[in-house]
Amino acid sequence: MITEKLHKIKDILPDHVTLVAVSKTKPNAAIEEAYNSGQRVFGENRVQELVDKYESLPKDIEWHMIGHLQRNKVKYIAPFISLIHGIDTPKLLKEVNKEAQKNGRIIDCLIQIHIAEEESKHGFSIEEAKALFEDLDSLNLKNIRLRGLMGMATFTDDTEKVANEFSSLKSCFDDLKPNQGSHFDTVSMGMSGDYPIAIEKGSTMVRIGSSIFGSR
Ligand SMILES: *Cc1c(COP(=O)(O)O)cnc(C)c1O
Repeated sequence: MITEKLHKIKDILPDHVTLVAVSKTKPNAAIEEAYNSGQRVFGENRVQELVDKYESLPKDIEWHMIGHLQRNKVKYIAPFISLIHGIDTPKLLKEVNKEAQKNGRIIDCLIQIHIAEEESKHGFSIEEAKALFEDLDSLNLKNIRLRGLMGMATFTDDTEKVANEFSSLKSCFDDLKPNQGSHFDTVSMGMSGDYPIAIEKGSTMVRIGSSIFGSR
């Protein structure tokens, strides 16, 4: 079942779009099934669960932290994490830099932009993000590589609203891109319910859980 669903999604994803299989709450057996059909990139949103899965599953898995990350937990994932999607404050970015340095690593990160209407979603406003990028040199984050932006659209049936929110994230990325290096190449947007719209609006990375692993 997982293999079939995975292949169905992979068949329609354009080549330039990376699939993050969101395995949060799902058992190792489910991840192994996806792994055995070729999937290597998995997303989790809780640090303890992520560490447990990292320790017990194959070491060539690329683990992405997609959820809200507390500063005091960065140290647990810094040794192995491939990409942190949810950088939502400058303080968190500094903490990741510090832990990356301790581990002798450079950690890839995305800046989370608040594009949804809901209050509860974390992230920078577009203005705050632009200010952060202007201040980057003074922050001296030698162990961080900023790869791009991440955002979550409002949970609604109003597809036009969702499309507009994704467009605003993509245009923020396009505005920032000229002043970043070629490694600034990632727009992480789109989940099970809205990834076709996200791709249409310029996503390069989709985070899909329930459409692969079933509902949680
Ligand atoms: C859970 C989660 C997803 C995946 O959601 P689905 O609707 O199951 O595809 C994507 N992004 C984030 C940040 C999540 O927390």
